[in-house]
Amino acid sequence: MRVYLERVGCKLNQSEIEALGRGFVQAGHQWVQASEEADLCVVNTCTVTHVADRKSRQLIRRLRRANPTARLIVTGCYAEMCPQEIRAIDGVDLIVGNEDKEHLVELAESLERESSGSRALALNLKPETSNFKLQMGHTRAFVKIQDGCNNRCTYCIISLARGRERSRPRQEILTEVEALVAAGCKEVVLTGVHIGGYGRDLGTSLGQLVEDILTETTVPRLRLSSIEPWDLEPSLLRLWDNSRLCRHLHLPLQSGCDATLRCMGRRYTTSQYASLVVDARRFIPDLAVTTDVIVGFPGETDEEFAASLNFVEKMEFARIHVFKYSARPGTAAAEMPHQVPYAEKKERSDAMLELARESSQRFWQKFLGRRMEVLWETRCRDDKHAWSGLTDNYIRVTTRSERSLANTITSTTLVGLIEGGMRGEVED
Ligand code: SF4
Repeated sequence: MRVYLERVGCKLNQSEIEALGRGFVQAGHQWVQASEEADLCVVNTCTVTHVADRKSRQLIRRLRRANPTARLIVTGCYAEMCPQEIRAIDGVDLIVGNEDKEHLVELAESLERESSGSRALALNLKPETSNFKLQMGHTRAFVKIQDGCNNRCTYCIISLARGRERSRPRQEILTEVEALVAAGCKEVVLTGVHIGGYGRDLGTSLGQLVEDILTETTVPRLRLSSIEPWDLEPSLLRLWDNSRLCRHLHLPLQSGCDATLRCMGRRYTTSQYASLVVDARRFIPDLAVTTDVIVGFPGETDEEFAASLNFVEKMEFARIHVFKYSARPGTAAAEMPHQVPYAEKKERSDAMLELARESSQRFWQKFLGRRMEVLWETRCRDDKHAWSGLTDNYIRVTTRSERSLANTITSTTLVGLIEGGMRGEVED
């Protein structure tokens, strides 16, 4: 089968798509990069906000239009929470909930067998072999280490959609990382719904896993995706003694106002969060601290939003993802009184986004004239000599070079600020 995979949403969904693609290739199928060429399209959906729901529906319809003869499987959090809405879309052949996602290759194969009679003419039924290395040869890869979350933040549907925490066995993760390194991957990002909870069910911990990956594999760069502030224990910070661990912490703040944090069911105060950031910065020089902030949570007053904005400004984040609060059916916050009108949320979001832009620029400014290692990922679309890459502390760098920089790490001087990051000069 020729299989096309696409996702909406977070890095966890991305890691699942990558793992699924490798699973299809190992089972003898071909992972194609254009939906028009596929016999099967798989969509990994998201339901974190109503915008994510809409994007998921749009993607399903777009793929159906682009390739009317391919079979179409829909999975992920939106499929888990609202299968009836997906069923109402024409042309979806199979909906797979999150629990069954790990069996998706087998499910797709049986779908293929069942429908082969009626669609045989439209398909290329011979399994094609594919170059595993080619499919896996990414610069950065997302590796899922756990799923689910035992917390119940009042706004969050993800803990409902993904169920209780469960961790992947350590050896399975190490084997996957080694395979990625062997295929040329230079950076691995550990992802999950709640990576700080890794290993609790296996009698181990995230710290132990990171240490094992750093000692037992040769991955040049290892990055943690989002980690909840209460999981960043001081003992974890010593892991950054190893320079292969990227100096980047994504610590979701969600609000800079204590009253709002309490209503959200978050397990920290702003002053605990601030002292965590101070400790982390003391321990890890040049650390990028990035975050998520929700604006317009039910009951958030003008004063509370002002307090949130003020705290966020003081934290000097390297990057801030801003979300307008979106009521998710089935969550406690959706039932709370004093829902904030859309126009108000929009205004607060604009103010927070403006602060986010300034905050990033202040962070980048500190690195002007500095020499940093950049992992070059892609050629820019409109200029074949322009390259885009990341420093380990999450600065997006663009440069021009006649030679191919793809998937190399080079020493680069950061010479200017540009939209979305910095301009660099690569040493020859
Ligand atoms: S920690 Fe809170 S926000 Fe994060 S997945 Fe769990 S319930 Fe959702």
